[in-house]
Amino acid sequence: MTREEERFDVVVIGAGSSGGALASRLSEDEGCRVLVLEAGQDFPDEASHPPPFFALGPVLGHHGSGHGSPVPDVDFMQFTEPVFGRPVRLGRGRLVGGSGMINGSVGVRGRPEDFARWEQAGAEGWGWDDVRPHYEAVDAIAPLHQWSRDEFLPGPERLVAGFEQLGFRWVDDMNAPDAWDGVVGPWPQNRRNGTRQGSLVTYVRAARARPNFELRPNVLVDRVLLDGERAVGAAYIDQQGRPATVRGDRVVVSAGAIGTPPILLRSGVGPSGQLRAHGIPCVADLPVGQGLLDHAYCRFLYRVPLPLARLLGPGMAAVVRHRDWYAIPAPFDEVEGLVSLAMILATTDGDGTVELRSADPAENPVVTTDFASRVEAGAYDTAWAHYNDVLETSALRDAGFSAVSGGQGLAEHLRAGIGSGQHMAGTCRIGAVVDPDLRVYGVENLHVADASVFPQHVSNNPDRTCMMVGEHAAARIRSLTHL
Ligand SMILES: Cc1cc2nc3c(=O)[nH]c(=O)nc-3n(C[C@H](O)[C@H](O)[C@H](O)COP(=O)(O)OP(=O)(O)OC[C@H]3O[C@@H](n4cnc5c(N)ncnc54)[C@H](O)[C@@H]3O)c2cc1C
Repeated sequence: MTREEERFDVVVIGAGSSGGALASRLSEDEGCRVLVLEAGQDFPDEASHPPPFFALGPVLGHHGSGHGSPVPDVDFMQFTEPVFGRPVRLGRGRLVGGSGMINGSVGVRGRPEDFARWEQAGAEGWGWDDVRPHYEAVDAIAPLHQWSRDEFLPGPERLVAGFEQLGFRWVDDMNAPDAWDGVVGPWPQNRRNGTRQGSLVTYVRAARARPNFELRPNVLVDRVLLDGERAVGAAYIDQQGRPATVRGDRVVVSAGAIGTPPILLRSGVGPSGQLRAHGIPCVADLPVGQGLLDHAYCRFLYRVPLPLARLLGPGMAAVVRHRDWYAIPAPFDEVEGLVSLAMILATTDGDGTVELRSADPAENPVVTTDFASRVEAGAYDTAWAHYNDVLETSALRDAGFSAVSGGQGLAEHLRAGIGSGQHMAGTCRIGAVVDPDLRVYGVENLHVADASVFPQHVSNNPDRTCMMVGEHAAARIRSLTHL
């Protein structure tokens, strides 16, 4: 049989946090033939020979700054259009396991109220009571590591104590439904034996043994094949650089919040004006790529006596959570004596964009963010006040902390330092582009399942929510197809 004649029950595009979970769950039904097309490398012997970056390596680029790629060989090297005159890097894992294999491995759930907002936005069946069992299923396959307070490094421990003096409440479990709005505690880590528990080493590992599961790495999907208004497969560039096609009764696009819109747009699904500009006939006029959500990130530094800047040990063990932001206290430079507080806005709305640069699948899309307008509207004012207020506590004063950031004022600091929390989402939202079963409006047998479908953002790190989306999508697709 030639590859062109091959037919699968489901073709999943992208083996990332959501796609890996979804494809693996669907393949549990041995009557369902699942093919996964993945742009990046596979690491099939990861259990015996994990590459060092799975367990070690810088997480967010130089000094945790978000600039520069942590692992360029397995990253799309995506940048935004300039924000305050400079492009902002957006990490996009390009490997089996997706961004979940190169991320900071913080393993947290969304907030129950986030899902009440999802339901209000039209995501029927995605309320807290609906999603919680799917989070539990993720926990069962990718267990979390919990730090104890005596493992915190000295600088972060002082900051945690300072925030407690400001009235923040200690919690043992950041995934408890009430661990919000003024709490400090350990940050759950999605790691086992040091290795990030992305879908490569969890869901995909489990699926590989099944004869009805096939993974094709190093193939770049161009578009979904449509027969009129029905998805019938995918067109891709194969490992030798040749155009190829494959047939599927159902197609699920799981290429991530930045990767999914270009595939849909090249397929004729998206804003008609944009499609026309690229000579692509419009099949379904939908706001694909509009309303990009992300959490802005900025680092603030303190100067400390050298022993407090000690780096050896867990770097991101603690978190401080306010209603409007959350912050990571971490050592930054043990020679200069610097400790950082990376402050991330917990905004749940957003209006960035992902649009085609050209119809060439090898070209990254054009991405704009709303960080500049947010900053100018004062979104960091509360975080900035806390950066300064905690300095007045005896926990920091007595330990010799002093301010380093903001000498020229907050505005200048943000202009120079604003970056992405790497939490891109919302570019094919439930209620706008897909229905609550994640079916693309107006196109039969075509779904999206990844961070793109978030109708609003969650209030913190989204990886576990992306895996939950994969679990939930598998359950929904199974019920639609009686697989
Ligand atoms: C540097 C970094 C740090 C982060 N830290 C954290 C953290 O600590 N905690 C947390 O919760 N979240 C974190 N995140 C965010 C989290 O990892 C992502 O939100 C999540 O992995 C997104 O899942 P996804 O399934 O939507 O997309 P991805 O996991 O990115 O998967 C998309 C997949 O599709 C593939 N693909 C894309 N285009 C194509 C194409 N044309 N053809 C074929 N395949 C394609 C990609 O190669 C990739 O494998 C971080 C992200 C980054 C980049």
